[in-house]
Amino acid sequence: MTELQYDLIENLGYKEFNAELLKDYWAFNDYPRRKFIFSLKDLITKYQFKSESKLHNIVKNCGHLKFTALLDCGICKRTFKIDHRRNINFDKEDWFKEQLTCDTCKRENIDSQVREQLSNFQNSIPLGQKYNLESPYQELDYLEKIFLYVLLTTKLKITDGNLIHPNNWKDFQALEANGVEYILKNIIDKGYIFISNTYDDVMLLQNELRNTSDTLQSYLAFDTLRELKKNLNLNFYNDIVVVLPKSCSSRQDWIVKLYNEIVLYEIKLKDIKQIEEFITIKRLNEVYALIDFICRQRHIPIKKNNALELDLIRMLKKYDLQHVWSIICYQAKLAASELYDMEFKERNRSRFSSEYVFSCHISSYLNYLESKNIAPKYPRNLPDNWVYSEIELFVSAYVIGNYKRWNEFTPREILSLWCKDYGN
Ligand SMILES: [Zn+2]
Repeated sequence: MTELQYDLIENLGYKEFNAELLKDYWAFNDYPRRKFIFSLKDLITKYQFKSESKLHNIVKNCGHLKFTALLDCGICKRTFKIDHRRNINFDKEDWFKEQLTCDTCKRENIDSQVREQLSNFQNSIPLGQKYNLESPYQELDYLEKIFLYVLLTTKLKITDGNLIHPNNWKDFQALEANGVEYILKNIIDKGYIFISNTYDDVMLLQNELRNTSDTLQSYLAFDTLRELKKNLNLNFYNDIVVVLPKSCSSRQDWIVKLYNEIVLYEIKLKDIKQIEEFITIKRLNEVYALIDFICRQRHIPIKKNNALELDLIRMLKKYDLQHVWSIICYQAKLAASELYDMEFKERNRSRFSSEYVFSCHISSYLNYLESKNIAPKYPRNLPDNWVYSEIELFVSAYVIGNYKRWNEFTPREILSLWCKDYGN
């Protein structure tokens, strides 16, 4: 810190102006050991003031001390006007340091940095996508063929260029591949579906831009902010492309070929293991969906842990989905009423934490059914808005051939219908 230049500014227009008083009040030793020469007491005595506040009142009107300091940007300056001793601190050399932030330059700097980030982002957006796709040649497994066939033939929008709409792809993943993502991954790894990485970098930069916007938007100029918002609203999707094998000249060709290969296929032992796993995972996801549905409807909290999952698997192996649903509904009703009692009736409070109540009801009811060796009496129709898997509908119609929905079967029953010709 260099030595500050102080100027004493006089207010000559003041009717009680007193140059000597002003000078005495602001008289201090030279740098670096600055100290006021006269104490307030001295001044009060010398100028015969009744009180300290009277003294300050007059001095303030007579003039002030002024100095100018460079702001932290190194360009702009700020002038300080001091009209009271308490507003200056000679003991601390840089007592005014916190007042040296240059807000204008800070805003300008941030704004231009963000503008640069924005233009980097805009420059990163590729104009056209080019990739060479080679025809896949690896053999597809039985289940992979079924997945691909269903993917190519259901309500999906696939363009003439064999592009799958990203939202359709997401829906397919959520409904059909939930828990069995490895099947889709194998199809992708074998090259029958190609997902471009064209926009990976763009999406990364857009994410950084989003963070910038979250932290710095209060500093930005209006135009920059508007530009930023516009760019954050852009959606980027990597291309998802269906790649035909060499032997097929069109998608339609391939669909026919896949269909024939599926319906004429002789199931082998290794397929049975995969099919069984697929059916069980699919059923477990359906049971979780039903649990979520009823918990939402009846406002039941639930802790999803291994203990619950073991009970769900025990239940789904033994009973078909309609009976599972009947158990879930009945136990949810009991759990909801117990939760109500826990909340509103003192003596029933906290047998255990509320999020375990429903799981315990399911578990003990399954024990009861087992100990009595009985099945739940009534099946129950699935909720009206239940979405059936297209893979299930396809297998039921064209592989099993009974056109029945799987909710009236246990996983084992579905497996034996699906693989009925095995070993014959
Ligand atoms: Zn500045």
